[in-house]
Amino acid sequence: MGVLSDLEPKNVFAYFEEICGIPHPSYQEKQLSDYCVKFAESRGLEVHQDSLGNVIIIKEATAGYESVEPLIIQGHLDMVCEKEPGCEIDFAKDGLCLYVDGDYITARGTTLGGDDGIAVAMALAILDSDSLEHPRMEMVFTVSEEVGMEGASAIDLSMLKGHKLLNLDSEEEGYLLTSCAGGCRANIGLPAVYETKQGKGYHVCVKGLTGGHSGAEIDKGRANANLVLGRLLLTLEKAVPYGIVSMAGGLKDNAIPRESAAYLLVDEAEEEKFRTLVSETERVIRTEYAVTEPDLHITAEADGMAEAKVLTAGSHRAVLTLLNLLPNGIQSMSADIKGLVETSLNLGILKLGETELELHYAVRSSVQTAKEFLVEKLRCLTEMLGGRLTLEGVYPAWEYRKDSVLRDDMVRIYQEMFGKEPVIQAIHAGLECGLLAGKIENLDAVSIGPDMVGIHTTEEKLSISSTKRLWEYVTEIIRQK
Ligand SMILES: [Zn+2]
Repeated sequence: MGVLSDLEPKNVFAYFEEICGIPHPSYQEKQLSDYCVKFAESRGLEVHQDSLGNVIIIKEATAGYESVEPLIIQGHLDMVCEKEPGCEIDFAKDGLCLYVDGDYITARGTTLGGDDGIAVAMALAILDSDSLEHPRMEMVFTVSEEVGMEGASAIDLSMLKGHKLLNLDSEEEGYLLTSCAGGCRANIGLPAVYETKQGKGYHVCVKGLTGGHSGAEIDKGRANANLVLGRLLLTLEKAVPYGIVSMAGGLKDNAIPRESAAYLLVDEAEEEKFRTLVSETERVIRTEYAVTEPDLHITAEADGMAEAKVLTAGSHRAVLTLLNLLPNGIQSMSADIKGLVETSLNLGILKLGETELELHYAVRSSVQTAKEFLVEKLRCLTEMLGGRLTLEGVYPAWEYRKDSVLRDDMVRIYQEMFGKEPVIQAIHAGLECGLLAGKIENLDAVSIGPDMVGIHTTEEKLSISSTKRLWEYVTEIIRQK
């Protein structure tokens, strides 16, 4: 007996529980990918698996649906793996420890991977059913969505016949997503030149920030730890002689960094002034961010006398100029869709190493040309200061379609089933639909999902009742002729 055995819809939760028992972090989806292939083979279904682990399973139309347009259902195989301190689960080889708490399914001490295991579970439950009536179903399971949509970027979809796609990678019931931002990673390298100096070593650390997703939460007014550090160093520069030995902050380009630190060499005679100025800057920034960053702290800990390599005056100036003058955060809001961020960027990773300063930005926009212009701004200042900029993981925006048969059908069915209008939404985050739209001519796509809370965190939970309603909705969409 599984933990979820008593829950309805039975088959969906049975597959979800199996998926949670198979390790599937990004880049390590092989086991889950093979599980899907085996599932298809044992039922005599057409299946394709590529070298990355992307899987496509096709089930022909049931009687009476032969002439109905095929429907593509899509989700991703990988999950974000986060765990609480002390949790002993090894994501590479252990399953998750599921439990039910009221209306929610969660995993003890870890992320749940409802994002996006529930999509795979629903697709398998559809394929497994003998009673559902449907057109030709084309299930597409991609790998490495959470680390830059590499699976969707490389997947071959030439065997598909459908032009309608239902993406099941959203987290709010009652919302039909119909457009998303395009983006890229902008990687900046600025040469760093050092000279040997002596002074008192200091570990300076900005910590306790809220963080969050660089797309969905860029409009929450939260502080970016890397930029707080940059501002602190700029403020100190005016009053106290000091040298920069190293800097590091942030883990991912697409997460708002919560911590950033520097190792500095301070003139011993100025120590008192240095400490006072750090506390003063902490107070100023805490006041500015009193609402969004109640736990922001800046600490400075002395580390004894040291001889170390610090940035030369010219290099120091260039580093602080770049760090403080490059744009960050929201650049423009959409004039068409109220409340939608149109263009933004996030300095996710900062690293001052032996030879260069590295800055990694996640750039997003629902307008292709606005994104390109923003990248050119970054390039402009970077090159002026002697650095270089390269782009990585470029993905297109999924642009809103004025005429969408799938969306219109889904709105109508939703009203009939639930007696209310669904919300048509666009988001300032990446979804694979943009990449897939580039591979399927005239693609008509909508993204939906059940209610989930705290995705990508150890608080992640999936609503059972919402999953049930979503299942009923999806099966009704499939049943349409
Ligand atoms: Zn997802």
